[in-house]
Amino acid sequence: STLSSARKFLSSHLTKASSTVETCVVIDATIGNGHDTLFLAEQVQPNGKVYGFDIQNDAITATRSRLQAANLLPIVELYRLSHDRFDEVLPKVHLGHIQAVMFNLGYLPHGDPSIITQPSTTIAALSKMTHWLASGGIITLALYTGHPGGQEEAASVIKWATSLPAKSFQVMWQQILNRNHAPSLVVIEKK
Ligand code: SAM
Repeated sequence: STLSSARKFLSSHLTKASSTVETCVVIDATIGNGHDTLFLAEQVQPNGKVYGFDIQNDAITATRSRLQAANLLPIVELYRLSHDRFDEVLPKVHLGHIQAVMFNLGYLPHGDPSIITQPSTTIAALSKMTHWLASGGIITLALYTGHPGGQEEAASVIKWATSLPAKSFQVMWQQILNRNHAPSLVVIEKK
């Protein structure tokens, strides 16, 4: 699936990064029920750090208990804050050293389907994150087109990602061709 594909890209980069940098810093930009936050924490433990963002309280609560149950809460900071404001809370020493960012766009599964990620904040977050990403760092985005607003958001992300300078970034777009409305995956790697 698209999500397991995202995890493969992240896992191969984070295995390398965790063994070369002192603190492997990663961001979950859309924590939701916390499955990806847990995955990221498992990848960077014991010395790494995960910063997670969501605008819904339910997401913070669900994710906190998931991480607690796995004994990984100590390496995770969760913020009820829009992801485009991550630079207000991330310790300044981490700027420029972010190894990976994961976006899973759309709405919270089993939550309020009207609360969705929005093109303007998604692109604002992406612009800042590509700027502060470490060299070799990667950003994955799962793009959904099945909900109202999804198609527009996917189109703006693709347009923005297409415009990234090829000398500094490699951008890939992976799609499942034989399923309707399967999420597609964008992977941005900073050179
Ligand atoms: N990866 C999650 C998981 O494993 O359960 C699912 C993420 S869900 C598809 C998208 C999430 O993005 C929702 O929980 C929603 O509240 C959140 N969201 C929407 N707008 C946001 C924003 N501006 N900043 C951060 N999170 C946002």
